[in-house]
Amino acid sequence: MTGLRMSAMNVGPLSVDANLLVALAPGHLEIPTTAAVIVHPTYGVVLWDTGINGVVADPDRRDAYWGANVATAFGPHAFKREHAIDVQLEKLGIKPKDVRYVLYSHLHLDHAGGMSYFPDAVHVVQRDEIRYAMWPDTWTSPVYCQNDFRDIRKLNILEIDGDFDLFEDGTLRLLKTPGHAPGHQVLIVNLSNRGRICMAADTGHQRSGFDKLVPMPWDWSTSAMSMTRMRMKQLERSGVPMFFCHDASDFAKLPQNGEFWD
Ligand SMILES: [Zn+2]
Repeated sequence: MTGLRMSAMNVGPLSVDANLLVALAPGHLEIPTTAAVIVHPTYGVVLWDTGINGVVADPDRRDAYWGANVATAFGPHAFKREHAIDVQLEKLGIKPKDVRYVLYSHLHLDHAGGMSYFPDAVHVVQRDEIRYAMWPDTWTSPVYCQNDFRDIRKLNILEIDGDFDLFEDGTLRLLKTPGHAPGHQVLIVNLSNRGRICMAADTGHQRSGFDKLVPMPWDWSTSAMSMTRMRMKQLERSGVPMFFCHDASDFAKLPQNGEFWD
């Protein structure tokens, strides 16, 4: 018995050209951005990613906050204030101060946007990621929104380097999976009834791209991504189902709207 409970939230509906997610893919897609809340019987509320900052819901402030080019490319028109993670947690009866840990797959603007909502939590991020996010290469800098990081030096940051068992009890294990970002990581959740599942974040942007090992144009290193995907495929062969952050059919399978898996 691990005693964990877990629910997912769409913390950032986006409207994007498919070739932004899978190189050379045709068409346009409406996609979710998946975050999760996990309640550990001993250590309390843990978040997996934080989605988009609520400011982006305001069309008058969006361009100044994200930058006009990013706001155009990612199409957050369906993102409303009530999608932001603080409001969604409130609906579940969880206040920001109840959140003990925030785990980040990486620090792109659709994953780290809610960072400043949780000043009392321990924020767990790969060392390579937090350092890169503070001074990204010019070409990838638009997706590291420095406005999201305005409070980062006041936060209790737990830098990790490599795979990490958060509570040394096998319930929540982080695997370092660089490629999409230098310090990208995925989360394996060990649920008593469901067994192990993997919150696979952006190791695949659509199931089709993952299956065919096609990179996305914004991947920081396509070489590192190839290694990561081979590791992820071995995880899948080992019977661990994975849920990609921006795949609509994956999101639909997860418990949401107050429903929990255990
Ligand atoms: Zn993403």
